[in-house]
Amino acid sequence: MKKHLPILALAAAVPVIALLPLPDFWIAQLNYIGLYALVSMGLVLLTGVGGLTSFGQAAFVGMGAYTTAWLTLNLGLSPWLTLFIGLALTGVSALIVGLITLRMSGHYLPLATIAWGLSLYYLMGNLDALGKYDGLLGLKSLSVSDIDIGQGRLFFVLCWALLIAGAVSLLNLLDSRPGRAIRSLKGGTQMAEAMGINTFRYKVTIFLIAALFASVAGWLLAHFQRTVNPSAFGLKMGIEYLFMAVIGGVGYVWGAIVGAGLVKLLDDWLQVALPALIGTSGSYEVIVFGVALVLVLKYLPDGLWSVVARKFPRPPRPMNWQNADDLPVRSKPAMGEPVLVVDKIRKQFGGLTAVNDISFDIAAGQIVGLIGPNGAGKSTTFNLITGVLSKTSGRVTFCGADVSSLPSREISRKGMARTFQHVKMIADMTVLENVAMGAYTRGSSGVMSSMLRTNQAEEQRLMKEAQRQLERIGMGAYLHEQAGNLAMGPQRLMEIARALCCDPALLLLDEPAAGLRHKEKQALAQVLRQLQGEGMSILLVEHDMDLVMDVCDQLVVMEFGTLLTRGTPAEVQANPAVRAAYLGTEH
Ligand code: ADP
Ligand code: MG
Repeated sequence: MKKHLPILALAAAVPVIALLPLPDFWIAQLNYIGLYALVSMGLVLLTGVGGLTSFGQAAFVGMGAYTTAWLTLNLGLSPWLTLFIGLALTGVSALIVGLITLRMSGHYLPLATIAWGLSLYYLMGNLDALGKYDGLLGLKSLSVSDIDIGQGRLFFVLCWALLIAGAVSLLNLLDSRPGRAIRSLKGGTQMAEAMGINTFRYKVTIFLIAALFASVAGWLLAHFQRTVNPSAFGLKMGIEYLFMAVIGGVGYVWGAIVGAGLVKLLDDWLQVALPALIGTSGSYEVIVFGVALVLVLKYLPDGLWSVVARKFPRPPRPMNWQNADDLPVRSKPAMGEPVLVVDKIRKQFGGLTAVNDISFDIAAGQIVGLIGPNGAGKSTTFNLITGVLSKTSGRVTFCGADVSSLPSREISRKGMARTFQHVKMIADMTVLENVAMGAYTRGSSGVMSSMLRTNQAEEQRLMKEAQRQLERIGMGAYLHEQAGNLAMGPQRLMEIARALCCDPALLLLDEPAAGLRHKEKQALAQVLRQLQGEGMSILLVEHDMDLVMDVCDQLVVMEFGTLLTRGTPAEVQANPAVRAAYLGTEH
């Protein structure tokens, strides 16, 4: 209930405001704020949550606006029909632009969206059919059976009802299986891909959703202003939309409304105040916005809403999953049968052979330790097996299937789960939500069902599984803790629980004891012994010799990329070559 408070408050406020005897000017202001907030809400998803910066949102607003303007004026179509035509056109364009640009990294994506925004602006301004820079005039206001709802208070209700619906659907989305995948995008793609998530597809998806939000705003704007011209959809507006999202709080859905309100009011005020101050008129407000943006980014990098969000942290999800069905489990190789066969895998980085024809295998129920001095090639071997790096040559067979050329998310889907040498998690998500990401491939609900919240049965199953795996390794007390607040030890255990959520046939752990204190190491060793007792197959890369000798059945020793020897811990310890190469330097 508490979680829905902002939505309920806003939903209750809208009809009250509509009935209050406010001056028309303020209603018009609120209408603009609602329109702008709709666009920047899309940007919250795209930029704030997904980490993809777009300056081109105004162009999508323009597509929605021009589509309805041209079709209603020239073909006499109903605006309620042209809304969907506009959405379809925007969707197709966003898909094409997204598929081309979203593989770009770093600054290329923002640059590409600037180019896209500019080209559409000049296209709108130069096409005769679109009235060139004068635009299209004389649009009809929106109406429902002769009642004009396109102006004033009724438009306010329409616009803000759409805004609230948009906010609710985005909040629903972020709190779901695809939502957790979207929230993982900002931190790089490696972890998400290792959970079986197709990160590129989600980038395109949020680009599309943001564009559709913009298109709806454009449709509303066109019929509200009853005229469209390119100036409302140029790069300056593209920058302002981004600015609204950043000021309000780029990761927060509600921040979009705060940001839109502030920018609109500030913009109006500055247009009056600045000429009076400086004595001349011009677009000086852009400079003030620039300075304000720098200040916000410096002192409140998460935007204004982050202050509110910190004051009222999100309470734990009010969901009861104790009666949910268990997730189906995969069939795994029987004890002693081969799980992993590594056959002469090789990796060359230019002239350096980091991994030189390494072969070994793991039988079901075994814990195999991969050890060797720093730079021996352990992590590279790990990445070759999990599909993060491509092999120069060699073969990896997992549960009887050749996975040599599969990407990491396909390998993970087959039941190979891993942790990372440097913990990779979503710090502002709860431990439970982080762990539920591990079960991503065991669910199927998509964006639509998550927005409409028809995904709840599956969500309950995923949460139940996440809780079960956390309790399995003794982390039951941390379910609703923010992952970022955990100490190193529990963070590493959380990663193991996340990997277990994938129902793995093989678990790969990359230096799970690194950075742990003595007590935390003991807890980790306890968890590994327990998993061993349950018959889990594990490949363990680890520096801590006590731990390795304690839990491993077999050791594979690497040095300078080559296989030095392999055998039981006792055999390896007795091997003079190993003592010279490795243990001698360590102990
Ligand atoms: P370990 O995990 O055993 O410490 P790594 O697998 O990280 O060793 O590294 C093995 C060797 O490969 C090192 O000499 C390292 O410098 C080199 N190496 C690792 N990754 C790359 C890379 N992406 N490009 C070039 N050289 C690399
Ligand atoms: Mg390493």
